[in-house]
Amino acid sequence: MAATVNAVKKPSVLAQYQPSDSLTKHIYLTFDDGPLNGTANCITICEREKVAASFFEIGLHQSRSKQGRMLYEQIKANESLFTLSNHSYSHAYGKYLWFYQHPDAATLDFLKGKAVLGPSNNLVRFPGNNAWDTKDAKKASWLVKPLAHRMDSLGWDVIGWDMEWRFNKHGKPVQSPEAIALLVDSLFAHNQTKTKNHLVILMHDHMFAATADSLKLAKMVGLLKQYPHYEFEKITHYPGLKNALN
Ligand SMILES: [Zn+2]
Repeated sequence: MAATVNAVKKPSVLAQYQPSDSLTKHIYLTFDDGPLNGTANCITICEREKVAASFFEIGLHQSRSKQGRMLYEQIKANESLFTLSNHSYSHAYGKYLWFYQHPDAATLDFLKGKAVLGPSNNLVRFPGNNAWDTKDAKKASWLVKPLAHRMDSLGWDVIGWDMEWRFNKHGKPVQSPEAIALLVDSLFAHNQTKTKNHLVILMHDHMFAATADSLKLAKMVGLLKQYPHYEFEKITHYPGLKNALN
């Protein structure tokens, strides 16, 4: 009889121990290819809106100018909001096919990027390719698979994206802020993200160089902040990474 009572009570007891954030949807804003014109606006807007963001930087861009180094320092200085990660040293100099066909050289390029950028994590993003390699998330085309394996053997995580705020031939945002916010909502609602309830948005720093375009970024962030269950997080908090990271 006691067993029956326990059996009846069990669901409500379990319900009490549901994780409190089971409704939370995690958004990772990622800005690629900086430091560039536009990086300063990304930093300013995220700081003003108090939202976390992650910068996948190119070593060459950081090291080639005083302004690049200054922006890099600004990102590194705000550890509570920002993460800086390795997006290679050269971005393959735009020659992606060659880059992925020569995984040893590509690995050296990432190691050079790491030396220049000094990231506090081992997260990388491939140039021009949406590949994933974490403990749980895997995605690599035949072309990039050899490099993904090398990254994995180094214990590094490869981070792709769930959706992109695209830019046109002039480098300006294609979709409206409203369209981006709706797409976020839709991907969460239909469980179309790499990891359930976690969504990575790819953007590029240069899209927000002009003031009018930077206002679009602020608008998009403002729209997403209206959802009570949406939380902005650094990419180092993405679940299933190979290393414990800050
Ligand atoms: Zn890139």
